[in-house]
Amino acid sequence: MKKWLWKLKKRLTHQAVVLMYHRIGTTDTDPWELAVSPQNFEQQLQLLARMGITTSANSLVRQMEQKKLPRRSVVVTFDDGYADNFTTALPLLQKWQIPATIFVTTQNIGRQKEFWWDELERIVVQTPVLPQQLSMPVGERPFSFNLKEETSLTAALQQKHRAWVATSDAPTLRTQLYLRLWEQLSPLTDPEQQQALTDLRSWAGIAEEARPAYCCMSTDQLKALATAEGITIGGHTITHPALGHHPLEQQQQEILGGKKLLEEVTPYPITLFAYPSGNYNDHSIQALKQSGFKAAFTTEHAPVSKKTEPFLISRYQVNNWSAEQFEKYLTYWFRQ
Ligand SMILES: [Zn+2]
Repeated sequence: MKKWLWKLKKRLTHQAVVLMYHRIGTTDTDPWELAVSPQNFEQQLQLLARMGITTSANSLVRQMEQKKLPRRSVVVTFDDGYADNFTTALPLLQKWQIPATIFVTTQNIGRQKEFWWDELERIVVQTPVLPQQLSMPVGERPFSFNLKEETSLTAALQQKHRAWVATSDAPTLRTQLYLRLWEQLSPLTDPEQQQALTDLRSWAGIAEEARPAYCCMSTDQLKALATAEGITIGGHTITHPALGHHPLEQQQQEILGGKKLLEEVTPYPITLFAYPSGNYNDHSIQALKQSGFKAAFTTEHAPVSKKTEPFLISRYQVNNWSAEQFEKYLTYWFRQ
């Protein structure tokens, strides 16, 4: 096809861009770039409000079913259910009248408990003094690591940790240890992950503790969020497993169990889902269909068109960007 013709075709394609957020707040370290500052989030919402093309995930799914997508639209989603979604994001979403779907993992709702990846960071990266040698089983595999000169958390190490992102090379041994443990823990079941965290805490000589900024919503907050104007709650399992690593039966329990728990607090059925860590296989889709879900969102980077499969709706993660940076990314995504 001629280049200009191809460009014209691209421009005429009706597309939606689905955005993925996790946390609105500031954190000391953020290897997965999950936190957007309230200032930047508001700037991003202001831009979206000015563009006037935001729509809800439910409308998008309906438009996909009818094969009638508007030329451009943007959908806002959040994953996991951190408390700041209610305390910080909700007032800003309402101020700028932007609809959003919040995919909630149920296990930590109303509990003083961090997700395993956050607690792993607290133990390995934030503990002031750690023993030099770690040797323990992780799941069924032996694991060992030597921290060498990084047993004490120096100011120099802390500075490196603040700039650390997990997608580039680990800048310190502590961050290397974090990533190696993250990879080992990721495919495991929740009891195996919790056992490993218990072992790690006793190795580090620290108690279980949940930093308030890392906690999930309370049940009352979730209830209020679920009925807030413009907000839809979606499923994100009970314990956030990487679904594709688990048998169908376990996936079914996580998917349907999470849906039922959410439906105890939402006045409407839960029909939308986001794959935890973007991980899924054919069994996940089968379990979702059997559980009465209508659509599911991945973490694959692509715009949505009328050809997109409803159980494979792709999304783009939004990082802690200013309005200018965010606008550049939006323009780029719509051209994909
Ligand atoms: Zn998640």
